Amino acid sequence: MKIVEGDRKLIIDGFEFYGKIQQTNFCKQCKSNLVFFDKFDTYFCLKGNSWTDSKCSDPHWKYCPSRPEYPLLH
Ligand SMILES: [Zn+2]
Repeated sequence: MKIVEGDRKLIIDGFEFYGKIQQTNFCKQCKSNLVFFDKFDTYFCLKGNSWTDSKCSDPHWKYCPSRPEYPLLH
């Protein structure tokens, strides 16, 4: 996996987004670093390519309805 860390941006395997790798926040399952994804205002596990929280069911909440099933597109 190729990770390029910019000022506020991350590019992971060519997928570019605003976010930040967490240095003190780890995945409960695999212990790898979590990544904050600005656009969806939440964290995901880089290794597992999964969100740390499940989607809320509120259709009016601005983040969840547009959130993809997996953080990184392949
Ligand atoms: Zn994980």
